[in-house]
Amino acid sequence: MIYTIRNSFLKSRPTGLMSYVRKSTSGSSAMDYNRFLNPFSAKREPSLIRELTKIYANSPPGTIFLAGGLPNAGTFPFAETNVKLKDGTTFSLSGRSLEAALQYQPTQGYPPLVKKLKEFQIKTHNPPNWDNYEMIITAGSQDGLCKTIEMSLEEEEPIVVQDPIYTGTMAIVKPFRSRLIPIEQDKDGMCPDALRKALQNFFKDQDKRSSKGVPKLMYINPTGANPTGSVLTLERKKEIYKLACEYDLLILEDDPYYFLHFQKENPVSFLSLDTEGRVMRYDSFSKVLSSGIRVGFVTGPKPLVKMLELHMQVSTLHTSSLTQVIIHNLLESWGPEDLHGHFKSIQTFYKSKRDIMLDAAKKYLTGLAEWTVPEAGMFLWIKVNDVVDTYDMVMERGAKKNVLFVPGRAFMTDPSQPCQYIRASYTVPTPEEIDTGMARLADLIREEKDL
Ligand code: PMP
Repeated sequence: MIYTIRNSFLKSRPTGLMSYVRKSTSGSSAMDYNRFLNPFSAKREPSLIRELTKIYANSPPGTIFLAGGLPNAGTFPFAETNVKLKDGTTFSLSGRSLEAALQYQPTQGYPPLVKKLKEFQIKTHNPPNWDNYEMIITAGSQDGLCKTIEMSLEEEEPIVVQDPIYTGTMAIVKPFRSRLIPIEQDKDGMCPDALRKALQNFFKDQDKRSSKGVPKLMYINPTGANPTGSVLTLERKKEIYKLACEYDLLILEDDPYYFLHFQKENPVSFLSLDTEGRVMRYDSFSKVLSSGIRVGFVTGPKPLVKMLELHMQVSTLHTSSLTQVIIHNLLESWGPEDLHGHFKSIQTFYKSKRDIMLDAAKKYLTGLAEWTVPEAGMFLWIKVNDVVDTYDMVMERGAKKNVLFVPGRAFMTDPSQPCQYIRASYTVPTPEEIDTGMARLADLIREEKDL
């Protein structure tokens, strides 16, 4: 597969994706990315000044930049920033790297970090379609996901989502009043059979009624799904990918817990399987380096990432330069082996926390509730036996008992329906707090049954 670019961004005024035409070298299916843009975002045009900032960032030394409205970094009061890591590694931002950290950067991201993350992505996922991908650095994965859905979805348009679903995704989708096509999950993640059936049924109905469109987006949180903790198996991923090709769906692979798994090997991602260019992948440093640093990155088909960039050109302009430079310098200081070692150490840490919660659940909740063992992520998804809905138990009586969980309804595609699940997080509480928390939950469940 190759892309040809019909118009350069600066020579003529392109209208959104019309500047890209996808051609299939094999003569097989070609993706029409215009389909994944709603009319609102299709009207976006590139900012000339932002494009010039990018050109300047990639220019040889000595290029004189009279184009932009950059403040002179010499007027900023910061002299130096020193960063010390817990392993003793230190680096300081001064001179050019401090200037980069304090100054505007290209919308796509701080160029040395973009370069590093591209290498990282190739090494981690070896995507078969790499030449047709681009990357953009966002303020966490939520930012990239939100902007993607907002550039693509139309009001009342259907969207395929895993069920239960991450609340942050529901919140993005809700104002669109979309018809959700919920696909059930079990301990191995989204069920391909359920997906096949749902799509077949949808298209059967679709023929009969006037259309609000067909689904074009499919949201999946494959590793350590929030809230279930499941990891979507490779076999299922392959089946789901095949269905996405059949029904021309773009897969939104929201994977912030990718490195927070409790398996021997990193999972094989949808990105690794993406021969057709129909995966937008959302990675994040939130769970592995810092959540407050707000750095994530989106990898996906060039035309779609370009449209995200146009969105960012008029919203955030770019992700914080300071945090991007800090992440870049950290990756530079550590190198791949240290980074891998860090991932291993947090996997061990969270696995032991998970096991503490599993032990406490077994001790106090046996007979009262059921759960599956989370294979990744931060949560235990608990089904309370013989209770219709957990909302009041958690929100009212739980708070009085000084223990807080999230009622399962928060993760339902239809939150008006009762739900007998709760989500418990094992990441922050101490072993003693986990033990006491589970004991209090057991009391709450018993009381609920007596009510
Ligand atoms: N997706 C999922 C499934 C999440 O659980 C979260 C964090 N709660 C996010 C996205 C957002 O993460 P970030 O901090 O990278 O924006």
